[in-house]
Amino acid sequence: MPAAMQALARARCRPREREPANRLGARFPDRYGCPMNALPLPAPDWALFLDFDGTLVDIEDHPDDVTLPAGMAQRLRHLQVVLDDAVAIISGRALADLEALLQPLRLPLAGLHGLERRDARGCLHRDNRDREPLDAVRDAIAGFVAARPGLYAEDKGGALALHWRGAPEREQEVAAFLERQRRQLGDGFHIQSGKQVFELKPSGRDKGRAVREFMAEAPFHGRTPIFVGDDRTDEDAFAAVNALGGFSIRVGEHHPDTAAIATLPSVAATLAWLDGLPEQLEATAPDQS
Ligand SMILES: [Mg+2]
Repeated sequence: MPAAMQALARARCRPREREPANRLGARFPDRYGCPMNALPLPAPDWALFLDFDGTLVDIEDHPDDVTLPAGMAQRLRHLQVVLDDAVAIISGRALADLEALLQPLRLPLAGLHGLERRDARGCLHRDNRDREPLDAVRDAIAGFVAARPGLYAEDKGGALALHWRGAPEREQEVAAFLERQRRQLGDGFHIQSGKQVFELKPSGRDKGRAVREFMAEAPFHGRTPIFVGDDRTDEDAFAAVNALGGFSIRVGEHHPDTAAIATLPSVAATLAWLDGLPEQLEATAPDQS
């Protein structure tokens, strides 16, 4: 059995003796140190929201190194078909970046952690007034990075990311520097932490809000929301789907502080789980004959 399938089998076979099953057969998380729950059983009324980096593709040293793996477009298209188009990507990447990566696939997308969104009709939701104040700190960030090998600044237009993956010893220095820039911009901005990255962005929009906005629209409205993501930037979305009666799944090692109710151990296990959903949905569909 391939390693990814073995990992998925382990995730599915975790102990079931402590908590009652919920309405879709999932386990509620045990917040007292016991193993996490098994994965929810899929249902045809799911609205599936997926993070991108660290969830559908492994994280690379540089975000530009990521390409769409072979078969990914087909996988997502298949999920669209079985879930009546209720599939969307919600990412920290800029919308234009996501669109280029996913071409020729057309999916509802939210970029910059919900700062910009393209709905299922193809309409763009973005407020350019959010991003203008960032001009005041762009030069300072560029100068900071230029003087410190290993750091990388990513200008996403509506947000400025500072990656410290190449210089992990500078984490605190980067955090303190970016907090000084944030203070200069005022309360309308905050710092979003991700995996070895800090991001300066306007406040008030996050992945949870993107989930709620999609859920107010066709084809998502009235469905059960599922969010799959891998890091702190996804916690708002986990909380949002939990509050809406849905399911939240965190990819990677179990994190003690997550709001997610289930875990998948890796990107490979996540892809194996997604690939199994259409077959599981067909197996649970009522007999039409
Ligand atoms: Mg991610």
